[in-house]
Amino acid sequence: MTTGSRAKPPVLILGGTSEARALAAALEAGDLAVPVTSFAGRTESPAPVPGDHRIGGFGGPEGLAAWLVEHRITALIDATHPFALTIGDNAVTAARTAGIPALRLTRAPWTPEPGDVWIDVGDEGEAGNAVLAQDPPSGTTILVALGAQRLESLYPAVRKREDLRWRVRVVDPPASPYPSQAMTPIIDRGPFNAEAEHFLFEREGVSVVLARNAGGDASVAKIVVARRLGLPVIMIRRPASANPQHACHSVEELEDQLRRLL
Ligand code: NAP
Repeated sequence: MTTGSRAKPPVLILGGTSEARALAAALEAGDLAVPVTSFAGRTESPAPVPGDHRIGGFGGPEGLAAWLVEHRITALIDATHPFALTIGDNAVTAARTAGIPALRLTRAPWTPEPGDVWIDVGDEGEAGNAVLAQDPPSGTTILVALGAQRLESLYPAVRKREDLRWRVRVVDPPASPYPSQAMTPIIDRGPFNAEAEHFLFEREGVSVVLARNAGGDASVAKIVVARRLGLPVIMIRRPASANPQHACHSVEELEDQLRRLL
């Protein structure tokens, strides 16, 4: 990563999301700041991002603060996924330690629309229990669109209903086999459009969707198709963030804030 030689001040974007990429593209094209995007390194090959980038954890808030100082970063933008909580808290602490502003860019959550059949749950474990409570007939296909991070909490429900087809959509093949043959991966990377999702639902015979209220456009198509087909969506609500910052919901709003601060 190189940041020193250009006139624009460097800012760190904590990324791994489509909005982080959009922000990096906007900053790279404009005259406000040089974007440096940080990836956790969870996916084997993160999609290319405009500007500079780095990969891997920092070693907690202290490590992040030290990195900010070492690289003379002038503002920290947390544009991580709304379900990534630790790094958001670390960002606030580290920016305070380094004496630079911290901003937050995140997607607005989805809200139910007419035709939606949402079952509101708090986490993956509750999502599994909600499937059991529905008592779906044997052979029912469930699209598990929960990412790869916290799938273990779903395992007890899968073990209780191994007669169901738990189709798990993930970016990379699982590092170790799932604990049940009823659970099988669909390896794919968004964004997904409604036509492709409709095709997937028909091909797999999807009857139930497990999703997280991620918000944004990149992964909303499954919700749109479920609405169209009248299928239930077991929806994990947004976790409460300890991050007190005002969240910008658009790149433009974030850039306005940044312009005032730099
Ligand atoms: P997390 O629980 O909030 O963070 C765990 C640790 O991972 C952090 O303490 C930090 O390690 C490291 N980390 C997280 N994001 C990082 C980043 N952008 N750059 C460098 N290090 C980072 O996060 P998570 O839920 O595991 O998510 C990891 C990454 O995947 C995030 O960047 C997020 O945007 C992306 N992502 C997450 C989800 C999800 O469902 N959670 C979905 C899509 C994308 P250190 O303490 O060592 O610094």
